[in-house]
Amino acid sequence: MSKSTDELFKNVISHAKEYGFVFQSSEIYDGLSAVYDYGQFGSELKNNLKTYWWKSMVQMHDNIVGIDSAIFMHPSIWKASGHVDGFSDPMIDNKDSKKRYRADQLLEDKIAKYDKDGKTDKAELLQTEMDTALKNEDLPRLRELIIEHEIADPVSGTRNWTEVRQFNLMFSTQMGAVADDADLVYLRPETAQGIFVNYLNVQKSGRMKIPFGIAQIGKAFRNEVIARQFIIRMREFEQMEMQYFVRPGTQKEWFNKWKETRLKWHLALGTAPEKYRYHEHTKLAHYADAAYDIEFEFPFGFKEVEGIHSRTDFDLSQHQKFSGKKMQYFDPEVDPETGKPYGNYIPYVIETSIGLDRMFLLTMINAFEEEDLSTEEKQDSRTVLHLHPCLAPVKAAIFPLIKKDGLPEKAREIMDKLKLDFNLQYEEKDAIGKRYRRQDAIGTPICITVDHQTLEDNTVTIRHRDSMAQERVDANQLEKILGDLVSW
Ligand code: ATP
Repeated sequence: MSKSTDELFKNVISHAKEYGFVFQSSEIYDGLSAVYDYGQFGSELKNNLKTYWWKSMVQMHDNIVGIDSAIFMHPSIWKASGHVDGFSDPMIDNKDSKKRYRADQLLEDKIAKYDKDGKTDKAELLQTEMDTALKNEDLPRLRELIIEHEIADPVSGTRNWTEVRQFNLMFSTQMGAVADDADLVYLRPETAQGIFVNYLNVQKSGRMKIPFGIAQIGKAFRNEVIARQFIIRMREFEQMEMQYFVRPGTQKEWFNKWKETRLKWHLALGTAPEKYRYHEHTKLAHYADAAYDIEFEFPFGFKEVEGIHSRTDFDLSQHQKFSGKKMQYFDPEVDPETGKPYGNYIPYVIETSIGLDRMFLLTMINAFEEEDLSTEEKQDSRTVLHLHPCLAPVKAAIFPLIKKDGLPEKAREIMDKLKLDFNLQYEEKDAIGKRYRRQDAIGTPICITVDHQTLEDNTVTIRHRDSMAQERVDANQLEKILGDLVSW
């Protein structure tokens, strides 16, 4: 990471804290690693991102519906899905520093270093060797590679490594009063399984016909070995997932459609296209027949924000096997080739899975600007979040010019008429210029100032965040102006 991008990232993190977007969890107790809380403006921004996703996935598609399934699920679900046996990372400890690392992460960092130093041959060779070891689950080989390539512990600088072990990422807890193994439950590591096990409930109660989708937003939990890069890798995070159930044989076509649709969703927020790229998975999970990530260029490099996976009938077939319940769908449509209905089958699934917290972070990074406003006469600058108005936590701020002469009352009166429809902020403290700056810093698209003239002719001054231009409008037009500004 170059100094300026490093600085940008640091500045975004401190801005997020200073202005009530994101706080370290349990901060007064020195924090809890890789767990974060969203503050007063962060939770608004997060809700607006959820709304944007929900509207475009559920409201805009008459064959996609949303659900809200529980975090706790029957433990057999995680057996069936493969998470109990396979959802793990290779972990290695350093005996001197007593720190724990992901073995593959240490190797990836080394590969990046070789690349950076122009040793591309070495980088490629190590990449191939690591991929082979991971594919074969050859844990001793991973350790050998760490030793061969003289990888030192980032903390102690020593090379005193333990064996590599698999570390399951699921959190578990006990359900009920008697603590024994039979009562072990997991905190879900993904929201998808809640959709799979409910797919027939939704299909039957909603009389859904294939192809159809089920969407869900919710928390997921992973006991990540290493916590890195702020809210990129958290132990408690939120996913927005959609499973699209299709007829076997049509999965490729739907996979391509969702791959494109999801990138368009990202770009519709106005992000420069070069900030995004697809990454095709060449090593596919055993259940997948195609997988692409949508990556965003964070200050520390391109990183996955969303995955689009063609999961075949793996999950539904596994649930049929483990639960003993039929997971088949009856397709009444006639197959033109045979002239008969397609009949019973287990649908194939295309999944789109986006991390809300990573989306939140990229939105903050994209929006953040430290703008130089200096003129020949004086030095000046401001920090501004150029958030899309639909995403902005506060849609407008209302200021009485001064705290007397009936201006606060008039400002409150205007605000009361609008606040049911728009999230507004009233501020009367400090000079107007300072109040503008505070709103710029949280991304409020417009500020409305009430002055003495307002009492005479009911006009107010509107100041726009990005251009800083001001205009005088009739207060009766505010509802329409705000409505146009934040309509999706
Ligand atoms: P990574 O390779 O970065 O660990 P993943 O491939 O395990 O991610 P998926 O299981 O495909 O991720 O989950 C879908 C999305 O959930 C990811 O694209 C990411 O945005 C988000 N996500 C996954 N793990 C975390 C985490 N620990 N913290 C925050 N978001 C996460």
